[in-house]
Amino acid sequence: MKPKRVGIYVRISKDRKGQELGIQRQEKACRELCERMGWTVHKVYPENDTSASTTSRKKRPQYAEMVRDARDGVIDAIVVYSIDRLTRRITELTAFLEEQKEHGFAFATTEGEDTSTANGRMILTIKGAVAQQETERMAERVNTSLLQRREKGKPHAGGPRVFGFEEGSNFQRLVPEEVELIRLGYDMLMNRQTPGDIVRLWNAKGSRTSGAQTAWSIQKVKRIYRSERVGGIVTYKGQDIGDSVYPHPLTREEWENVQTILDGRSGTKKPGTAKRKHLYSGFLKCGGCGSTMRVQWATIQGRRFRRTFCHSGAVGRNGELGCGKVNRSYSWIEERLNEVVEAALNHRAPKPTAAPAEDLSGEINVLEERIRGLRKRWKAGDMEDEDYFDSLAHLRSQLQDLRVREAASAVREARTETDALAVWRDDSEQNLERRRALVSTVIQEVKVYSVGRGRRKPPEIDSIKITPIGAEGL
Ligand SMILES: [Zn+2]
Repeated sequence: MKPKRVGIYVRISKDRKGQELGIQRQEKACRELCERMGWTVHKVYPENDTSASTTSRKKRPQYAEMVRDARDGVIDAIVVYSIDRLTRRITELTAFLEEQKEHGFAFATTEGEDTSTANGRMILTIKGAVAQQETERMAERVNTSLLQRREKGKPHAGGPRVFGFEEGSNFQRLVPEEVELIRLGYDMLMNRQTPGDIVRLWNAKGSRTSGAQTAWSIQKVKRIYRSERVGGIVTYKGQDIGDSVYPHPLTREEWENVQTILDGRSGTKKPGTAKRKHLYSGFLKCGGCGSTMRVQWATIQGRRFRRTFCHSGAVGRNGELGCGKVNRSYSWIEERLNEVVEAALNHRAPKPTAAPAEDLSGEINVLEERIRGLRKRWKAGDMEDEDYFDSLAHLRSQLQDLRVREAASAVREARTETDALAVWRDDSEQNLERRRALVSTVIQEVKVYSVGRGRRKPPEIDSIKITPIGAEGL
């Protein structure tokens, strides 16, 4: 069943990731994923959940509404940027996976968590557990008085001056001329100009860096736009904890836009992104000699196409040279194999579930309660540091055991194959390895026979011979 009506859930929170991922960027990435999958966005659920804590019991109305809509069939797919946008509570994740199983809606994240396999769901649940631990650790490290100050939107007063802010004003007052330059540079970046263009403009206007009063360089300009302070974002130990109450050169949204642009620019130059580019390379075996065939792009008379061939010049894995006798177009083979894989995934029945999930939430709650109590006593000074950390480590390892059991149990319970097809149909570049993994659940290998050269007619169907996994499966 192909999901058509998607609910996108975006969440802003006070964690590191939240800072890098404003609500608009999350939504944009989710919409792009939907487009690739051929899904329609029915509704966006924006949550302003600035607690970002697993201990907080704050209600999330948008989340609740979305799950209700999925239950009622108003939407039949949910897309989030990443699993920790959905939830940072493992119990909530477990509940979510149960809902998904019961109501059969599709679920996808732009980071490519694969909920179609047991392993994928296990990874998903474990990721959820890790996300929860991160927020707990963060809560522990927090120096309360400083945090309280910052939670009121008051940035830390220390540190060197940042361009745009008045010297000695503790980031509370701006320098209008510098703000003007920052805003001009912002408009330039939005109009596809580069940090280098900003360097030239700022230098030409006689502007100098705030510290050493030197001329601007690309690195220095980038550093300004990378600074959270410029977007009025208050951080505590690298965690985004809210917006400054004082004026700042860019709004949070503008600052986030800049991050997207700067990320995109560095991304285009990054080498080493070339990976396996063909879905079935490795699966194709020469019908003449059995060696693994290569797949390559070729350009002949200005036309670019893929071909697959038995390589006679290289020693194969078996130590022998290929026969070099088979050489043919790859796309026809790919189309045939796509039909086979799609059909197999389509008919694959959902696996019967194993034993019912263990309900460990009671035990987990008790342990969480004990940890909270411990923390309270330690904060109140009723406990030696050493005793505190000892007991904490002990309780935490018990908690971890329970969570792994809970996760494994949730995985067994919520296993579905419903969205394997959705994963399969996303033929974007980034999804290639996941699609190859799906291929390997269907196809063992494919013998490819020669069809002769220069033939105009499409090849005969038996010019390839597919060996499915487990042979009787197809
Ligand atoms: Zn061969």
